[in-house]
Formats: sequence, structure tokens, C-alpha cells
Amino acid sequence: MSDERPTTTTTTTTTTSSYQRPAGAGQRPTGGPGQRPSGGPGGQGGPRKRRPFQRRKVCRFCAEKNLTIDYKEPRTLRFFITERGKIVPRRISGNCAAHQRHITEAIKRARNIALLPIAANHAVS
Ligand SMILES: [Zn+2]
Repeated sequence: MSDERPTTTTTTTTTTSSYQRPAGAGQRPTGGPGQRPSGGPGGQGGPRKRRPFQRRKVCRFCAEKNLTIDYKEPRTLRFFITERGKIVPRRISGNCAAHQRHITEAIKRARNIALLPIAANHAVS
């Protein structure tokens, strides 16, 4: 009496195995409930595309000691502003924090004396 336990699991397994599906018909490896290939704004941990060009990891002012940050040299500062005259952020330019601070200060000074553009329509050829 105690040997036989009528569990639903055993019954279901027996029913499934006796059903005999055709092989390969219903077995999908990734049959999740509605998996979208690329979701909307909530980026879930998928393989993100890495930026192809990741050059200049080191700060170029730390690398070259003779390179100086001077507000009177707009040629040097021009590497760190965009076409529209914006200052390139540190994660793009690769500067260290100290040098980025100097760069920002120099660019702002150079803007004041019109060596660098402040806005896009200020840019001269
Ligand atoms: Zn540096």
C-alpha cells in the first residue's frame, strides 16, 4: 500500500514517452517565450559591439613630455575640440584627468581671445 504512490509526475512521464513524438519535430533548443533579437531601451547583457578603433589609451601629454598645453597654441588645442567647437570628453580623447583639466582651461582661455571657436558658426576655415 505504501509502495505505490500515485504521483502525477510518473503519470505524465509515462504519457509523454508513450506518445512518441516524431524526432526533431518539436525540439527547439532556443524556444524561449518570445525572445526578441535586439530589445529596446533596456539593454540586457548581450554581446555589445565594441568600438572598432580604440586608439591612444594613454594621455598624449603624459607620453610626450615636451608637448605643452598652452592657450596661445590653438594647433595643439584643436585636437581636443570637435568640428562644432565642443571640447572632446576625456573618454574619447584619452587624456588623464589632470591634463584634461589643463586642456579645458586652455581651450576656454583661447576662446576668449578668439583663437578657438565657441560655437559652430564661429568656426573659420
Ligand atoms: Zn596626462
